[in-house]
Parts: sequence; C-alpha cells; structure tokens
Amino acid sequence: MSEISEISTREETDIILDEIVSQAYHCMECGRCTGSCPMVELFPNDFHPHHLLSDLTKDPEKVLKGPELWYCASCYKCNARCPQALEYPYFIMQLRRLAVKKNGMVPLRKAFNRIRTEIPFPVSFLSVCIHPERINMEPSILEKLFRDHQSSKKKVKFRTTGPKIGVVGSGPAGLMGAYELGKKGYQVTIFESHSDPGGMFTVAIPEYRLPLKIVLDEINQIRDSGIEIRTNTKFGRDITLDQMLKDNYRAILLASGAHACKELGIKGEDFQGVYTTLEFLAALKFKNKKVTGKTVVVIGGGNTAMDAAAAAMRYGAKEATLLYRRTREEMPADMNEIREAEKEGVQIRFLEAPVGIHGVKSKLSQLECMKMQLGEPDLTGRRKPVPVEGSNFILETDNLVIAIGEKPQTESFPAKIATGKDDTILVNPMTMETSIPGVFAAGDNVLGPATVPDAIIGARRAASGIENYIKTS
Ligand SMILES: Cc1cc2nc3c(=O)[nH]c(=O)nc-3n(C[C@H](O)[C@H](O)[C@H](O)COP(=O)(O)OP(=O)(O)OC[C@H]3O[C@@H](n4cnc5c(N)ncnc54)[C@H](O)[C@@H]3O)c2cc1C
Ligand code: SF4
Ligand code: SF4
Repeated sequence: MSEISEISTREETDIILDEIVSQAYHCMECGRCTGSCPMVELFPNDFHPHHLLSDLTKDPEKVLKGPELWYCASCYKCNARCPQALEYPYFIMQLRRLAVKKNGMVPLRKAFNRIRTEIPFPVSFLSVCIHPERINMEPSILEKLFRDHQSSKKKVKFRTTGPKIGVVGSGPAGLMGAYELGKKGYQVTIFESHSDPGGMFTVAIPEYRLPLKIVLDEINQIRDSGIEIRTNTKFGRDITLDQMLKDNYRAILLASGAHACKELGIKGEDFQGVYTTLEFLAALKFKNKKVTGKTVVVIGGGNTAMDAAAAAMRYGAKEATLLYRRTREEMPADMNEIREAEKEGVQIRFLEAPVGIHGVKSKLSQLECMKMQLGEPDLTGRRKPVPVEGSNFILETDNLVIAIGEKPQTESFPAKIATGKDDTILVNPMTMETSIPGVFAAGDNVLGPATVPDAIIGARRAASGIENYIKTS
C-alpha cells in the first residue's frame, strides 16, 4: 500500500482511502480488537476499534472528520489477536495523515478535549500515543494544543485532608495514581529518584516525539493541584517502607518502572562508547543533543531498539545499523516502528549477533559479530538463533547501544515482596495490591516494559484498590 506522506493530489489520497476501505471489508466484526484494546478500557464510550472499521466501509469521509480516529495508541495488541491479521494501527496512521490533510486539526482537538477530562498530562499522553512525527505533524501544533489547554483549563486544587499516601516514581503510572488519589482527597507525596519527574517521558522518549518542556509544564500543573513531588529521593535508600509507615503513610503505590537494562554478558560492555538504551536516549535528551562520532550500532529487535536507532539518525549519526539475531518474522518490534526506523535511514541486519567488543584504552572502536542461523524452537516457541562456526566478522563503530530489554530494578523493592518473571512485581490484578498488605504496584514494574495506556489503567485500578483498602482496614 502506498503511503499518504508521499502522495499529494486529492485524487491520489482518495485512491489510498479506497485501499484502506477495501482492507476494512476483511474485518469479520468478531470484536477481539475491542476486547483487547487498552484505550477502550480508558475511554469505553468513545472508542471501539471494530466499529470504526465498520463505519469506514459505510462512510469513510465521516470517519476522517470524527474524533475516534485519534484514540488508537498504536500498541499492536489488536493486531496480535485479529483472526484476519489486519494491521489496524497501520491503517489508523494512514487515515490520520489523510484526516490532517483533509480536515486539519479539528478532529484531533475533539478527541483531545475528551482525553484531558480523564488524564492529567493530556498533551504528553497524546504525543506519545499518536506519534506526531509519523503523521508529519509539526511540534508547534502540539505546543499550540498545550497553550490552548493551559489557557482554557480551570485551575484544580484538591482538598487533601484524608490519610497520607506515598507514591514511588513519577512516570505515567505514578502521576496518574497520585492524581486519582489526590482527587479522592488523600494527601499524596511522590518520591522520585531522578532529578526531574516524568519517568520515560522525561528520560527516554526522544525530544522530537515529546518535547521535555511540555512534560515538565504538565507535571507542574499536577503539583499545583496539590500533589507533592520530592525529586532526588530514592525509595530504598533515602526513604524506606518502614520509615514511611512510621510517618503515618497508610498505603504505598510502587510505580518505579523498568529501568534495569539487560546486558549482553561479553567483555567490553564497560568501554567508553558503549551504552544501554536508556543511557543513550537520556544522553541525547539531556547532555549532547547530538550523537558523538559518525556511526551507531544498536543491538536488539524491540520497539526501544528501533527508537534508539531512529533517534541516532535524527541526532546526527551518519549511519545507524541495527543488529538482530533472528529474522524479521521473529522481531518483537511493531511493524510501524520498523517501517519508521527504516524511513529514518536505519539499516537492519538480520541473523547476526555480537560476540566481542574491541577498542584501545577501553574506548570502543570495533564490534566483533557472528552470523546466526535458526535452529529448533526455544521455550518461547521462537526458533533459537545458533552461531555459524567460523563466520566471525568486524563492524567498525563509534557507538554501541545495547537494547536487548529492560526489567524492574529490584534493589529498592521492599524485602519479601513477591516477584515473578523478569523481576516483575506480582499483584492482585483487580486491586493491584502486592504480597505486602497496603503496598500496591502499577506500570512497567508489574508488566515489564509495556505502554503508557497500560501504566494508566494499572494506576487507576491501584488508586481504587488503595481507597478500598483504607476504607476497610
Ligand atoms: C524509548 C521508549 C519509547 C517508548 N515509546 C512508547 C510509545 O510510543 N507508546 C507507549 O505507550 N509507550 C511507550 N514507551 C513505554 C512507556 O514509556 C512506559 O510503558 C511507561 O513510561 C511506564 O510508566 P511507569 O510509570 O510504569 O514507569 P516509568 O515511566 O519508567 O517511571 C518510573 C519512575 O520511577 C522512578 N524510580 C525508579 N526507582 C525508583 C526508586 N527506587 N525511588 C524513587 N523513584 C524511582 C524512575 O526514575 C521513573 O521516573 C516507551 C518507552 C521507551 C523507553
Ligand atoms: S493498536 Fe492498541 S490502542 Fe490501537 S486499536 Fe489496537 S489495541 Fe487499541
Ligand atoms: S479482531 Fe480483526 S476481524 Fe475481529 S473485529 Fe477486530 S479487526 Fe475485525
């Protein structure tokens, strides 16, 4: 299918619309997409993915004018469950490009006006979910949305006279949980280890996708509503569970994310020029704003690896190469992420894996790799990559980014908290209570690296779980 961004005439855009509509006819209206969609859980009266497809077959121009198109968060959960393997988020991205061309920002604003009634950081939320860079939306449009929101929003000040609640972490889960609890009248304090609040919004998601100023301004509004945020305060080091209980905190929400980056386990990972994904993205966001050197090699095949490689190209790398040890079919990254990284100029090499990091005086200069072939399926059902004997080769590079996954940092978890696969915290899924009574958890530390809508859903459930816990204990 051609892409709208490459198309200019009205006739051509209509052809693309016809192509998408003809795909929509393959939908069997089984509703599995709607059943698995986190945005339906957040906005049950506003968005139903399968209704949108059905409406598209009846009146496509009406769909392009409506707000529903702007709710999909491009998480690909529906794609994994669709019996027709329809790539819903890709259709949505194409339709949004068309909608902007034909109807400007009016439909997006309608969706935004609804989203801001539920979520206290609506511009950050929408920016991360709709990927403005993919629909060629200028950052100034987001900034305008933000300014208009500021000027039209009534100032909220919570009457916080209820018991004290501590929240660990100020990413989307911590902010959402704190806001919901503040609304209910609790006195909420967020403890954040970083110098700036915001979690992945602040330290990882590249500036061209989400300007830092917007995130920090939205968080300041949350502060103004009556939520205290103590930065540079690490739970487990500067404040402990025992101390919080002594200080009369009645319940704790752990929203500490998944910030421990997995390692390759080969020599040289501590060389200068070798980064974890989060270090690399944070350096681009806070320090350099420009890639040092000309070349970047990224190891991994997930969405974060794609983001790191695409950001490398945006921030001045001459070449960004992504190495993945299996084939495209096994790649965990969503198709939209792969397409966008390739569009940025990222070269993806399959069936190759690193085996050695070389350099002079602990400074990276070469990556030694081996070719792989696929063997028998492993425990996950994916065919295992097996090194091809004698296939070693060298890639010259200035930077190496290890993007093979993140998991929660356990060192600051309270002792005896029950954890599961990849160090994620085990919770009761209805209340989000952990194995320690009165301690709740939500977001990436429960799910492993997931999405912003998932973090928000978990935090809302945890806020209700906490309210119930306090009322009944
Ligand atoms: C590069 C990148 C791109 C992404 N793109 C998307 C996207 O397009 N769409 C999408 O939906 N999701 C995306 N995500 C995922 C999304 O950002 C996360 O799922 C979401 O931020 C999880 O929220 P959280 O609040 O659980 O954790 P985080 O956002 O990680 O926040 C956790 C916070 O807890 C703090 N903390 C940790 N330990 C402690 C401690 N001991 N004491 C005090 N504070 C602590 C951390 O400093 C951090 O501020 C992306 C993630 C990355 C890395
Ligand atoms: S991609 Fe995710 S947010 Fe979009 S419709 Fe599918 S499940 Fe819902
Ligand atoms: S899961 Fe697929 S077939 Fe079923 S309603 Fe959704 S888009 Fe249609």
